[in-house]
This record gives sequence, structure tokens and C-alpha cells, in this order.
Amino acid sequence: MSTLMNTYGARTLTLVKGAGSRVWDDAGKSYIDGISGIAVCGLGHSHAAVTRAISEQADKLLHVSNLYNIPPQQSLADKLCRAAQMDKVFFSNSGAEANEAAIKLARKYGNDKGVENPTIVVMNSAFHGRTMATLTATGNAKAQQGFEPLLPGFVRAPFNDIAAIEVLAAEHKNIVAVLVEPVQGEGGVRVPHADYLPKLRELCDRHEWLMMLDEIQTGNGRTGKYFAYQHSQALPDVVTTAKGLGNGLPIGACLARGKAAEVFGPGNHGSTFGGNPLACHGAEAVVDTLTGGDLIERVAQRGEQMLQSFKDKLAGNDKVVDIRGQGLMLGIELESPCLELVAKARELGLLINVTAGNTVRLLPTFIMTDEETDELVNGVVQLIEQFEPNDE
Ligand SMILES: *Cc1c(COP(=O)(O)O)cnc(C)c1O
Repeated sequence: MSTLMNTYGARTLTLVKGAGSRVWDDAGKSYIDGISGIAVCGLGHSHAAVTRAISEQADKLLHVSNLYNIPPQQSLADKLCRAAQMDKVFFSNSGAEANEAAIKLARKYGNDKGVENPTIVVMNSAFHGRTMATLTATGNAKAQQGFEPLLPGFVRAPFNDIAAIEVLAAEHKNIVAVLVEPVQGEGGVRVPHADYLPKLRELCDRHEWLMMLDEIQTGNGRTGKYFAYQHSQALPDVVTTAKGLGNGLPIGACLARGKAAEVFGPGNHGSTFGGNPLACHGAEAVVDTLTGGDLIERVAQRGEQMLQSFKDKLAGNDKVVDIRGQGLMLGIELESPCLELVAKARELGLLINVTAGNTVRLLPTFIMTDEETDELVNGVVQLIEQFEPNDE
């Protein structure tokens, strides 16, 4: 019997080593990592610059309290704010905590304006984390079930539907912010219309709401821009990120600009570990690597190429409902539940993921070779061609 709480069910694969876009199990079998620790290791495994930064910092200073100046934290903050076009940042240890900071920020923004019971608009099928506030914001009744009472202060609209948010605006006079993923990840790799974020920006301006984007999965180059909102002209007031920021080090960030950047004062928020020297120095190596060359452009190109290959190779396959994505965040929606493909992929030496029940999701590294890309694409195509839905 395992001494681990059973939150992940039975785990049958043991990975012990990684290098570049490959990982190895305890029997020495290698896999192409098509999921990157769920959008974490964009730079691949054992990335030299990240490993060097971690060792350097571990040799110098692992941790001091946020009661003191932390030069690696300041340095990362400067670079991340520049990449995000934001003014200020609060560092956390995870995505959910970054969203907690954003939710607290929105509530304080509302309370400071004198709004009673400030309320945040969130979306159907959203995923924002597993803490109580972020679980409440998440649009998944199954994930919420058993954890009632959820928090007050949220109202919900369908994703990719501006008119539905207008209806909420008319019904609820205490809305202070909208929190949305630019591309829904766990919800099934859902890419909204190109004008969704600009229209949301316009709506938020008109109502003096904070536009808050959850870029925990989409940020740090994943969609082919540093942040997904940079595909449009719409700048949010608040953006959260985590996953890819540390390439495996636990770190999250809540960034803000303008009036939103001035909401928190001393004592309003904090974290013992958030912004610690180790995580920040490692993440700085990630940001440097992402912004220092053309890697993010290559993510856009590689993503286009993979999307097109899937469309070509799966054309006319009647099990396929839709093929979509942005950058290296790709989803192939099938007409029936297809969780079993995860195990079948392993036999081919591929790590893939299925989300929202029927959508094969790929979140590969940014550094796959042409050969690795072909192996991943051809393997997934083969799996889908051979897939026989069991009708239950
Ligand atoms: C993963 C994820 C989170 C939660 O991040 P954790 O680090 O697991 O707390 C929140 N929002 C989105 C969009 C995510 O993909």
C-alpha cells in the first residue's frame, strides 16, 4: 500500500531520467515527451542553462525571507515584466497561488472602489487550480463535487461568448473583473475567435473591470508568443503564469499594470517560499533562453507545421471531430472518449495526454528535432487510425 494520498489514481509508469525531448523509465525504455510535464518543460529536460543556474544559486543562497531584498527576484521581475508589458509582479510557488493573488487583487480593487460583494466573471470549462478560490473559479462540476461550500463572488459565462458577459453585466452591478484563459487547456484546447480578447478588453474598459488572463498554461512561449494575448492588441490588467516559467522549478507569477499594479500594499499578500532565490534564478535562465533568440518564433512555426500535418494525415477520418491549437498547444477532438490512447501511446514510446474526455492533447517541448516531431505526429496519427471506440 502506498503512503501517498490517492489523488492521482494508480500510476503505472516510473520515469527516472530526461534529456531534451526524451524521458526514460526505470526499465531503460525511452519516450518522446509529448506533454512536457503538462506544459512545464518547454525547454526540454536537463536544459544546460537552467541546470547551471540552479547549481550556481544552490551553491550561493537557497532561501531568505521576503523581509529582505532578493536580487534574483528583482532581476527576474524586471525581465518578466518587460516580456509581459506589465508593471509589477508578485511571485508564488504554483499556478493556483498565482490565481489566488489575482482573485484577491480583484476583490481588493472592488472593495477599494466601494463595490459591495465584488464579483468575478469566470467561464464554463475553465481550469484555474485546486485551492478553494481557484476550484470555485474552475468550470468543472466534477472537480468541485464534495468540496462544498464553494466561495461566493463568482458568476459564470460560456467561453468565447462576449454577448453572454454583456448579459451578466446587466444582471450584476457588482462585477469587478473577468478571469479567463486565452486558450482553454484542461477544457479541451479551445481557441477562441481572434477578436475575443480585443472585445473583452473593450468590455472591461467600458465597465471599469479588470481584465485578468490566466496564462499559467499558455504563457512562456507555449502558443508562439511570450504570452498568448500578444497574438492580439489587447493588453490585460492582470496576467498569471506558472507552468513553463520555471521549466520544472516550482514558481508562479501574478503580473499587473497601471492601476491594478497599485492595488496591493504592505501586508496585503505574501508567501514564505514565493520568489525565493533558487526558483527565481532558475526561472531567469528560462526567460533569458526564451527571449534571447528566435525560439518562440520556432514554436509558432513548429505548431503550424504539426497542426497542418494532423489535418492532412487525418483528413476524412470520421472519428475526428476537430483539430485545433495555437503554437505547441494542440488538441485533436475525437467523437468518443479516448483515454485508452494514453496507454497505447506508451507502447509506441510516446507520452501524450487526453483532456476533457475525448481530446488528445499535445504539449511537446520547444526543441524537438524534425525526426522527433515526425515520430510524435506519425505515432499519434497511427493511434487514432487504429482507435476503435468501445461503445458503452
Ligand atoms: C495548471 C493550471 C493551473 C493550476 O496550476 P498549479 O500549478 O497546478 O496550481 C491554473 N490554470 C491553468 C490554466 C492551468 O493550466
